[in-house]
Amino acid sequence: MKIKEITQFLEGIAPLNYQEGYDNSGLIVGDENTKVTSVLICLDSVEEVIEEAIENRCNLVIAHHPIIFSGLKKLNGKNHIERTIIKAIKNDIAIYAIHTNLDNIKGGVSSKISDLLDLKNQRVLSPKKDLLRKLEVYVPKENAEEVKNALFESGAGSIGDYTNCSFQSKGVGTFLPNEDSQPSIGEVGTQERVEEVKIEVIFPKNIEKSMLTGMKKVHPYEEVAYQIYILDNVFQDVGAGIIGELENEMDSSDFLEFVKNTMQTDCVRHTDLVKNKIKKVAVCGGSGSFLLNNAKEVGADIFITGDLKYHEFFNAENNIIIADVGHYESEQFTKELIYDLLINNFSKFAVLLSKINTNPINYL
Ligand SMILES: [Zn+2]
Repeated sequence: MKIKEITQFLEGIAPLNYQEGYDNSGLIVGDENTKVTSVLICLDSVEEVIEEAIENRCNLVIAHHPIIFSGLKKLNGKNHIERTIIKAIKNDIAIYAIHTNLDNIKGGVSSKISDLLDLKNQRVLSPKKDLLRKLEVYVPKENAEEVKNALFESGAGSIGDYTNCSFQSKGVGTFLPNEDSQPSIGEVGTQERVEEVKIEVIFPKNIEKSMLTGMKKVHPYEEVAYQIYILDNVFQDVGAGIIGELENEMDSSDFLEFVKNTMQTDCVRHTDLVKNKIKKVAVCGGSGSFLLNNAKEVGADIFITGDLKYHEFFNAENNIIIADVGHYESEQFTKELIYDLLINNFSKFAVLLSKINTNPINYL
C-alpha cells in the first residue's frame, strides 16, 4: 500500500481545504508513491519520534501538529525543526500532518474530547462558511433518478443527519443540435423540446470534481446543462469546537474534578465558578481562546480548552467558566482518534502509537 492511499483516505474524512489559512497540514516530507511499511502516530513529529519510527521500522509518521508551519530557508540542523526534517529524509521516513482539518470536523479532535466527557447533542461550535455549493442540473425526466443517485453516491445532498436531500421541479428544455453534435435525443438541425426535471442539491466544494465526473457518467446528454452557485450558508458539520450537554447537570466543582481526571492533567487553570451547576459544555482542543465568544453566545456554562493567556481569563466576564486543561493534555487523545480511523479501515500494515510524551511543558 502506498502512502497516498492512506493520505487520500484521511483527506476523505478531513479534507485539506478544511484547514485554517496559517496551517500546513498534508504530506510534509516524503513521496506519496512510497510503499508503507508501518505507521507511527504522534501529536508532535519531533526528533525523538523520528528515532522511534526508525527503531520500529515505520516509514510514515502521522502527526497532529505540522513540524513545519512557515517555510524553511535553510536545512543546516541548527534548530529542532531542521534536525527533524534532515533525520526523516536521511532515513526515508515520510511525515504527514492532519491538524486544523481534523480540528474542524464533527468526529474530530474536539469531538473526541466531548465523547470522553460524555457530552450529548454535540454540534460544531463555530461552523465554517464558504464551503458549500449548490448544483442545479437539467435531466430528461426518465433519467432523473439515475442522475440523482449518482449525485448522492458522490456525497452530494447531505445536510446534518440527513442524506439524499434534493429538490426537483419540472420544465421544458430546448436545444438545437448543430452538425458537429451527436445528440442522444433529437436530430441534428432540428429544434428540440424535451420534458426535463431540474435537480438541485447542495455539496461541499471539495467533492465538486468527483461529483461532476459521476454525474456526467450517467447523464444522457452530450453537453450537460448545469450551474453551480456559491452559498453563503455555514456548513454545520465543519468548523472549530464542539458544544454539547451533560445528560444530568453536575455541580461545577465536581465537574471540574471530572474534567481533570478525564483529561489526565496535573493542572486545570480556571476562572471563578460563577455557575453552580454545569449542563452546557463548550470544548476546543488545543488553543481555543478564539472561540470564547462563540461559547458564550450558545449559552455554555463552561468552556474547556488550552493555552489561554492571563488577560484572556478576564474575558469570562462572570458569565461563563473558563477551564484551561493544557494544550497537550486536551489533544493527547487525538492519537487514538487517528489510530482508530486507520485500524478500522486498513489491515495491510501495522499502526503504532508513539510512546513518547512530547509535551514540552512540565508542572512542578
Ligand atoms: Zn494543538
